[in-house]
Amino acid sequence: MAEDSRTLILGVDLGGTKILTAVTDSRGKILSRDHSVTPARDGPEAVLESILESAHRALERAEVAMSALACAGVGAPGLIDPRQGMVFTSPHLPGWRDVRLRDMVEERLGRKTFLVNDANAAALGELHFGAARGARNFIYVTLSTGIGGGIVIDGELYSGTIGAAGEVGHMTIDDRGPLCSCGNRGCWETLASGTALAREARQRIEEGVATSILEYAQGDAAKVTAQAVHSAARQGDGLAQELIARTGYYVGVGLANLINIFNPELIVIGGGLSNIGDILLEPAFKVAGERAYRETFRAVRFASAALGRDSGVLGAAVFAFSELRKLSRR
Ligand SMILES: [Zn+2]
Repeated sequence: MAEDSRTLILGVDLGGTKILTAVTDSRGKILSRDHSVTPARDGPEAVLESILESAHRALERAEVAMSALACAGVGAPGLIDPRQGMVFTSPHLPGWRDVRLRDMVEERLGRKTFLVNDANAAALGELHFGAARGARNFIYVTLSTGIGGGIVIDGELYSGTIGAAGEVGHMTIDDRGPLCSCGNRGCWETLASGTALAREARQRIEEGVATSILEYAQGDAAKVTAQAVHSAARQGDGLAQELIARTGYYVGVGLANLINIFNPELIVIGGGLSNIGDILLEPAFKVAGERAYRETFRAVRFASAALGRDSGVLGAAVFAFSELRKLSRR
């Protein structure tokens, strides 16, 4: 076999609440995983310590020495500059401003480290090992507490001028819409994310609409989550179904924009909210079809993400490995 299959990489998927760390090879085989909690409120140093502890546990489980790693890749949420290895800002990591996360991790691991946006990483994971294998022009969209994305053009991740491209969740859908964590109003993720769905449900409950959603939130409107709305919808709750269809409508509005701008062959949809399935996605695809050009809509295929929670770690690893190879070619 080629040497590549034995090249070992550490992939880290840093989320606002959880850290997933994995030892992988360059073919996308995962040797070990470690799950831990992100101490997001305790600042970058505390998060760094958690990443390191998680990395050591993953290495131990895989029986791999740190020195055997070719490199490490970290996928992080927020506005990221991969070239400087910097997290500019992140709605999921409160207080982070211009944090040089790549260098912090690299210094402590003693291995060459690369930093990439988490949704960009997931797009790369799906491109190399998942639902987008072989695609030339595709867009990855993660519907989660927010909405992230990754844009692949001619088989390469489109990174933009400062490496921050793909923030599809922050395209304006309603110029007077709800305030977004980015400071703008009516961004896609303020209307079509899990957070948006839960917010709308809470609002309607407070207005006194009859619903069983509260039964899935310990009777407390403040504890209503997208998951609670989904559970109620599955039991036939009218309001829950209506709210999910409304969220799907807004998902579709954003998809139509992406289809018209990029004319992709494929849109891969991942993220926890997408697990709701047809009652969310059917209205989304219908609206996208009504709003996009007929020709571009006919040319696009939709697929569900295939790698689940592994897309981010695998993508971070593959990003790191390809950047390492670029460096060695210089
Ligand atoms: Zn925004």
